Amino acid sequence: MTHPAAFSPPTFHPGTVWITGAGPGDPGLLTLLALEGLKNADIILYDALINEDILDFAAPTTPRIFVGKRAGIRSKKQSEITNLMITHAKNGKRVLRLKGGDPFIFGRGGEEAIELARSSIHFRIIPGITAGIGGIAYAGIPATHRDINTVISFITGHDSSGELPHTIDWDSLAKSSPVMVFYMALKTMPEIIRNLTAAGLNPQTSLAIISSATTPKQTTLETTLENYQKTTQPPRPKSPAIIIIGESVKIRGLIKDFQQTISNDLKTKALEGQ
Ligand code: SAH
Repeated sequence: MTHPAAFSPPTFHPGTVWITGAGPGDPGLLTLLALEGLKNADIILYDALINEDILDFAAPTTPRIFVGKRAGIRSKKQSEITNLMITHAKNGKRVLRLKGGDPFIFGRGGEEAIELARSSIHFRIIPGITAGIGGIAYAGIPATHRDINTVISFITGHDSSGELPHTIDWDSLAKSSPVMVFYMALKTMPEIIRNLTAAGLNPQTSLAIISSATTPKQTTLETTLENYQKTTQPPRPKSPAIIIIGESVKIRGLIKDFQQTISNDLKTKALEGQ
């Protein structure tokens, strides 16, 4: 690939690791650095939420190891993943550690970087577009809007034990964060809504759940806290899903009919093919 003068890619040195964010799904959301990493890696260790089409940017001969979770079961422990990275790097390989979204947002990238540093292995962090920004944008929801929020919070809906983290201060969130974006929160959503409304958040506050964001399977459910709690009818939104609470969800209604995204581009192609 030739690059414009403004971008001269760094060398992917043998014996180093690139901890790389692959974005939320749409291959168009990869960074130039991620692409560079894919093309030059000797080995790829990738997570469950990676759109496998993205791996096609690597040479067909590049070995790739799946190290994520499938059907709720983790294929490898975090310590095994770290050891794999370290062993391959020590053997002089260019190791691409490919993660969904951004590696430092609920992605254990920090833990992996610490372990690499402890083993004196050099690495590069390549940020990616996180699902909580890119995913909601594809659904027509701006992360900030001047009339709505001066603050946005990114919150995880489960901790390492799978429970809602006990350290979240629901009172201050309800009071001071008009927009909240939840990761890994489908299961704990009823509890989240109970906590927020108990802390004084208006039950009519808007809520959107975006599943498989930025992929052709993207779906968006738009509702309110109160209505979400009342609905027990299937279909419930599917995982992976990003959940946003706040009035910025309403912007979607004003713009979505004119917004082009990967999914409606694919739909257009399908129509053209008829
Ligand atoms: N590092 C990732 C987040 C990993 S945690 C990032 O920055 O995006 C995994 C959670 O991310 C999922 O449970 C879901 O809440 C969210 N997620 C990741 N990709 C998604 C997608 N394409 N659509 C919706 N949610 C997604």
